[in-house]
Amino acid sequence: MIETREGYAPQKPETLAAYLSGIDTVRRILGGRPEQWSIAEVGDGNLNLVFIVKGPQGGVAVKQALPYVRLVGESWPLPLSRAHYEHTALTEQARLTGALVPKIHHYDETLALIVMELLEPHIIMRRGMIAATEYPRFAEDISTFLARTLYFTSDLALTADCKKALIGAFAGNTALCKITEDLIFTDPYRVAELNRWTSPQLDAYAARWREDGDLKVAVSRLKLKFLSSAEAMLHGDLHTGSVMLTKEDTRVIDPEFAFMGPMGFDVGAIVANVLINFFAQDGHEEQAGERDSYRDWVLSTLEQIMFRFRDKFVALWRESPTGDAYPASLFAGAEGEARLDIERQAYMDRLWADTVGFAAAKMIRRILGLAHNIDLEWIKDEDRRATCEARVLTLARDMMVNTARYPSISAVVDAARRVRQEMKHY
Ligand code: ADP
Ligand code: MG
Repeated sequence: MIETREGYAPQKPETLAAYLSGIDTVRRILGGRPEQWSIAEVGDGNLNLVFIVKGPQGGVAVKQALPYVRLVGESWPLPLSRAHYEHTALTEQARLTGALVPKIHHYDETLALIVMELLEPHIIMRRGMIAATEYPRFAEDISTFLARTLYFTSDLALTADCKKALIGAFAGNTALCKITEDLIFTDPYRVAELNRWTSPQLDAYAARWREDGDLKVAVSRLKLKFLSSAEAMLHGDLHTGSVMLTKEDTRVIDPEFAFMGPMGFDVGAIVANVLINFFAQDGHEEQAGERDSYRDWVLSTLEQIMFRFRDKFVALWRESPTGDAYPASLFAGAEGEARLDIERQAYMDRLWADTVGFAAAKMIRRILGLAHNIDLEWIKDEDRRATCEARVLTLARDMMVNTARYPSISAVVDAARRVRQEMKHY
């Protein structure tokens, strides 16, 4: 059933101008009169309506949830409450990271609508990476985003009552979590109507994935962790399509999948999508080797993200150990502090192992599941695309089943290079 709500109506450019003209802050940002405003629906998202509104003075972006999945239509209902969770998460992320998310100008719970800062001239990172654009700030900014949003919403920083309140605040976002549970952790490993892949080239891979007991156990362990480990507030969909940036400025958008889950899921989303882009570069070269230096940038950026994330997270733990986990009274004195420091490294190692597994799951779903990445989809030659995709699958399977072989990001980066060199053909 499609949800209805008293007072809710999906906006059109005509209705939106009238609505926005009634909001003081927004009218001031846009300037002029409503007749002078241009309103365009950008519509490259999968789930929601997004309007870009420009006036004589400035612009805003307006995002509104629909009671169904935009890409599919009314046959796939999805609750309007996702706008509530997106707004709650954006507010938390803004508090924790400042200008790494768009500023919120206005929120309307009834309309499931957020008016936010227009990010301009920012572009979606995935598109920039397909065009081989380097982003010198990205490693620094995304590692800060991850470290601060994850650390400060965890039991390392929060008292147990505050942590449980946060779990409560996101507990209702079940429909969006269910999408992840099905599409990432289940469907790629079974026959499912929504699955698709480059066929017939990858038919044998898809068949093998459905028969692979080791892989199915490994992904089920990850699914269990996703279901049960409320470690921190996650963005929940942190791929390179949820980052808008320029060379000077990075913003994370679209946290409608936010909930309290395992930290490695967000970190792994970044790792997965950067790796997919690395493997996709071969499909965008006109001459072999043309993008060697870009590939180097992609992988060294990935290493920088992980090195910095680890350093920043541990530094926050040392500076602000305000949570109920690891009570200070148990680790008093120089000896206690030394013991705790060893444990901090062990904690980061466990988080890294989760990251490797979740990254692998996110790589596989983009090849064999419903939602694919334009990094690969835009490769027109299907044989070439299938070869890039087969490399992604090969690395991801090993990361998921043999996680201990990847003790650091450098091991992943080395393996990515090796798989690309050694696998000549799907
Ligand atoms: P969905 O959840 O439907 O995928 P997104 O939040 O990802 O929606 O937004 C869809 C598209 O709208 C983005 O890919 C981007 O092009 C554009 N967009 C979203 N937010 C902004 C913003 N604050 N400024 C400019 N463009 C935006
Ligand atoms: Mg979205």
